[in-house]
Amino acid sequence: MTAASQDPAVPPLRIGTPQSPGATRVMLLGSGELGKEMVIAFQRLGVEVIAVDRYPGAPAHQVAHRWHAVDMTDAAALTELIERERPHLVIPEIEAIATGALAAIEATGATTVIPTARATQLTMDREGIRRLAAEELGVPTSPYAFADTLDEVRSAVESGIGYPCVIKPVMSSSGKGQSVVRSADDLEAAWDYAMAGGRVQHTRVIVEGFVDFDYEITQLTVRACDGDGGTGTYFCAPIGHIQRAGDYVESWQPQPMSDTAAAAARDIAERVTTALGGRGVFGVELFVRGDDVYFSEVSPRPHDTGLVTLATQRLSEFELHARAVLGLPVDVTLRSPGASAVIYGGVDAPGIAFEGIAEALAVPESDLRLFGKPESFVRRRMGVAVAAGPDTDVARERATRAAARVRPVPGPGHD
Ligand code: AMP
Repeated sequence: MTAASQDPAVPPLRIGTPQSPGATRVMLLGSGELGKEMVIAFQRLGVEVIAVDRYPGAPAHQVAHRWHAVDMTDAAALTELIERERPHLVIPEIEAIATGALAAIEATGATTVIPTARATQLTMDREGIRRLAAEELGVPTSPYAFADTLDEVRSAVESGIGYPCVIKPVMSSSGKGQSVVRSADDLEAAWDYAMAGGRVQHTRVIVEGFVDFDYEITQLTVRACDGDGGTGTYFCAPIGHIQRAGDYVESWQPQPMSDTAAAAARDIAERVTTALGGRGVFGVELFVRGDDVYFSEVSPRPHDTGLVTLATQRLSEFELHARAVLGLPVDVTLRSPGASAVIYGGVDAPGIAFEGIAEALAVPESDLRLFGKPESFVRRRMGVAVAAGPDTDVARERATRAAARVRPVPGPGHD
């Protein structure tokens, strides 16, 4: 393997044969549906992939060269695994990771964390990323305050944030423990819900003013080699989406935006991703009202709403991530308008089956991803339908029609 340049984010520029001493090894921390697509993208480029999750049989485990089931919040276990596997790149796919251990390993120079260990630390905590964006970079956000007790929440709301507001545990994602509060009567219930929904035992919450947005977008932003020895910033077409209970149910690309709002979205995305540094895809979540754009949060990795890129872009967000982190050129060309629609489990059962696949795939320009998760829950994301079309309205109708035709049913022994 050739030596990396001084930039620690520059990966090996040669790719060796997988499972040979010269292999280029990538370790994925988190092996869900986004990880599965990332593994496939790396496999196509001849990279050796090691997929890690807390339970066996996770989607990306099923397509990797090797897999491990490890508690990734256990710093000692994570460090031991990385030292044993010696990956060139460590790619977090989830937030609940012992990021301090990643920082310690990165500091030894033994591996490169994507995009950087600091970025994974800042973005796993709503406080870290909000303070960076609003206070250091000065990008527009909702008004906010942090609170450790119900009394602090009450005084934050009463002394400025007002109603409606949104209360979220600082260590949480995908709407877990999050609620919209419309009056003082609802504050205590929102506080209790946040205490029960945090990722770790932690009492801190963020109280955000409610942004009455016209629409929300994910601005996929790629930091990749610019062909000139440096790092360039590349923007995918904006992705519109609908969230229900903090979880995305539908996305489409491109989301129409005014030129002013589109430029503001790219400006915010560039500032935030430049501050986080490293290379790879970032999902910058923004609220848009008229020409005004507000930063909400950022994933330093491909984003669930970006599953739509499987149908729309020349290179999906997963292929873009693989290329960017390997130091290869990227291309963010949109090939067609398109949409994605989530397929939920609908049942609580292990080993389910899906019916209606042929009917779903009969929808024009549609495709499916069934993630192969070993256990289904009513509200667990088990698959996604994607579709292209002449415009996003047609594509959305196709994607939702295809998703609705897929029927998860209990598998053998669970009828
Ligand atoms: P989050 O987990 O912070 O990404 O929030 C999940 C979803 O809740 C967002 O995508 C929005 O639809 C909604 N949401 C979160 N924060 C706010 C806010 N301050 N104002 C309005 N809607 C919000």
